[in-house]
Formats: sequence, structure tokens, C-alpha cells
Amino acid sequence: MPISEPNLPSGTNQPEKRPFQAILFDLGNTLIYFDGEWEAIQGERDAALIQRLHQAGISPDGKAFLSQFNDQMEAYYAEREFEFIEHTTAYLLRSLLAEWGYAQVSEEVIRSALADMYAMSQAYWKTEADAHPTLQALRAQGYQLGLISNGGDDADIQTLIDQAELRTYFDVILTSAAQGIRKPNPRIFLNALERLSLPPSQAAMVGDSLGADILGARNAGVFSIWITRRSDTAANLAHEDTIQPDAVVESLSELLPLFESLSTHPKNDDRAHPPSPFPEGRGKNSGN
Ligand SMILES: [Mg+2]
Repeated sequence: MPISEPNLPSGTNQPEKRPFQAILFDLGNTLIYFDGEWEAIQGERDAALIQRLHQAGISPDGKAFLSQFNDQMEAYYAEREFEFIEHTTAYLLRSLLAEWGYAQVSEEVIRSALADMYAMSQAYWKTEADAHPTLQALRAQGYQLGLISNGGDDADIQTLIDQAELRTYFDVILTSAAQGIRKPNPRIFLNALERLSLPPSQAAMVGDSLGADILGARNAGVFSIWITRRSDTAANLAHEDTIQPDAVVESLSELLPLFESLSTHPKNDDRAHPPSPFPEGRGKNSGN
């Protein structure tokens, strides 16, 4: 006769079976991925930005302005990797417009120009097929969930989250653009955990970037899980020998089995546990 487990109300179900109380996720290339040709999309973004500025009566020489804007964006992307600070794309656009003699551009014009620009690339972000099932299952098991995303524009990331219909799963959502600091700065991880009232030891972080997600989690004392199906990047290659994750999965659907195997308190197991002949129980796991 099978031993049935008691039905517990959701939210309180078997906390002792969970190795962590909260799971933090990265967004890009972890829950969603970019499916497009960047060079073609770059042209659409440029055109949308310039068109909206023109509509607002701001008409810099389009080609020269865009070339400078994109050069500065590239320099900004490179610089922020070392600074761990997020100045935001809005700040960059405003500064460049001031250099071009447009010092009094309203916040509304800056926002709408960037919204039009980002709309061109947002359509190419797709949701991973196992994102919803995994997040649903984690919630059903009582985990708290957090999202920490690096990006130059908070509104862009918030739109991507809503477009993928992911918002409802998360107890906390932090973006580097809104926080002013980027992963791997441990502060952004600790800010998320403060919102959840949890110590770092009670959380795991799942992300595709060694330099941002894994290093940052480690710096903050959070268990780090590297997801590798879209991790084949030059940046990751450069870090592969130096930044070691605590665990590796290829896809999101491997997370639940991983957490089960990490659980240190098997529940309702009536079988006798003989003392392990191995020091600290190592090497004893019989295929489980
Ligand atoms: Mg990522």
C-alpha cells in the first residue's frame, strides 16, 4: 500500500523539503531569449528614436547623431562591465542631446523616444518553453521568487517581463537601471533578499552569466546555479576557469530535480538509515 503524504495548504507545504526559501532569477538568456538579427533590428531602433525626436522638434543630423549615440552606447556597455554601475540609457541620451545643443529636452520626450526605440527589439524576445511550468511549480512548492535583471532601461525590462507574462510569479523584481548598480555587485542581491526578509544562505540564484549572475551570487553568499543552454558567449568563456558556480543545469526544467537532490531532509521516510560508512556521507547516494 502506498504511503500517502498529507495534503498541506499551499504556501506552507513542506518547507523542510526545500533546500532554499527563495530562488532568484536572471531574465535575459535565462527566462527569455533574443531571437533576431541584431544588425537589422539596430537600424529599426535608430529610425524609431530619430523619428520621435524629430516629432518633438529635435532634429540633429540623424546619421552623425546616431553614429555618436551608438558609439557611446557601446562604450557604456563596455565600461559598466567593470564599474558595476548603471547610469541608464536615458542619462546617456540626455547628455548627448545637451552636447548637440538641446539642453532642455523634457523627460517625456526622452522617455517616449527610448520607448519607441526599445519597442523595435522587444518583439524579438521570446519566452523559454520551460519558464512558466518551472516558475509555477516552484511557487506551488512554496518558494519565494525574485528577479534581478541588468539593463540600461528600467521601462524596457518591465515591458519584457509583462510581454512574457512573468510578473505574477515574483515577490521582488529589481533592475540595475532602477537600482543604479549592476550584478555582480552583491548589494543588488542583498537588496532583493532584504525585501524577502531572508539571509543569503536561504536563497539560490539562477543565471546564464558567469561574470554577473554567478560571481554576484557568490559575492553575496547566495548559492549559484549556472544555466548553460545559452551561455556560449565570449564573456563566459573568459571567466570559465575563474568563476565556479555551485551547480550547473542546462535548462530550467532541471531545477526542480536539482532542488530535490539538494534537499537535506528527506521527509516521511520511514526506512531505517544505517550509519554511513563514508565520511560525511559522501559517495553513499545510490543513484538518488
Ligand atoms: Mg542573462
